[in-house]
Amino acid sequence: MKKKKDIRALTKEQLRDFFVENGDKAFRGNQVYEWLWNKAVYSFDSMTSLSKETRKMLDENFVINNIEVDTIQRSNDGTIKNAIKLHDGLVVESVLIPTESRTTACVSSQVGCSLDCKFCATARLKRMRNLNADEIYDQVVAINKQSELYHNHKLSNIVFMGMGEPLMNYNNVIKSIEKITSDEGLGMSAKRITVSTSGVPKMIKKMADDEVKFNLAVSLHSAINEVRDQIMPFNKRFPLEDLREALEYWYKKTSRKITYEYVVWQGINDRKEDINALVKFCKYVPSKVNLIEYNPIDDSDFQQASEVALNNYISNLEMNDIVVNVRRSRGKDIDAACGQLANKS
Ligand code: SAH
Repeated sequence: MKKKKDIRALTKEQLRDFFVENGDKAFRGNQVYEWLWNKAVYSFDSMTSLSKETRKMLDENFVINNIEVDTIQRSNDGTIKNAIKLHDGLVVESVLIPTESRTTACVSSQVGCSLDCKFCATARLKRMRNLNADEIYDQVVAINKQSELYHNHKLSNIVFMGMGEPLMNYNNVIKSIEKITSDEGLGMSAKRITVSTSGVPKMIKKMADDEVKFNLAVSLHSAINEVRDQIMPFNKRFPLEDLREALEYWYKKTSRKITYEYVVWQGINDRKEDINALVKFCKYVPSKVNLIEYNPIDDSDFQQASEVALNNYISNLEMNDIVVNVRRSRGKDIDAACGQLANKS
């Protein structure tokens, strides 16, 4: 038996060609494309505008490697965590985070993660594989459906802050965003999408060259190499000087502010010199700081810093005219918060 191809790996042009080669009209390719992406159906039988013969012919030639929402957990605060089963049985997690004014999807870009951030549960899984563009897109579609079901409106924002390092799966992340923003996909604005990275300098420059329109967030956590080396060993390969240079390049090309994500831990980065270093780093490129609450993970020694330390950060940043927001955790009770995604369920 011949091996069936994944139909969603085809471009619209390739689909049109397929129908012409099989004695049908190119237009049929457009119809199938719309079913696959805009309507996001996962079986040929659901493509009801096609004849029975056409559906059968598609079924004989192709498969649809769709994702499946395997289990759903709901938090007291309305956050929903989805365990998403991929066609090869691997699992990633995606989260719907509702607030009064918006609903945000937090999506994964890799199964596990190759970085080794000491405070992050996903790091314990190691990296198993990259997600395809359509596996990323499907997460957004699934969460958009939940937003419509539970909140009566479409998703308003998307953050690439789930499992994985998006810039180490750059092409697929970009392709998924093209689909999310195109009218043939979900037609969302790129301005409502944020890609979060630990900071891969070369790829940040590439994004700038590619003139991407989405927002950039960088998980900084320390602006001192010796400290960052300890908590994000990846910093030894890409030290802060290289990150700074890439961010300056990004700003020169895009004129878009950067968001730094930052957790303050007791005895790690709660000293005066840590604050001074952050203030200094923030001055290199127009930016703002999101102070994230630490979400404890099993068997880790990290501890959220005291209120006093946090307030020191806030007042020093504000004194220097740097915008700072404090981000409270969402979905902590179901391990759905930042850094807690580890397929525990
Ligand atoms: N690899 C990307 C995206 C995934 S992590 C990145 O590093 O940005 C999403 C955010 O959650 C990052 O800012 C990360 O540093 C933060 N994070 C990881 N573990 C955390 C934890 N236990 N508590 C709070 N934030 C955490």
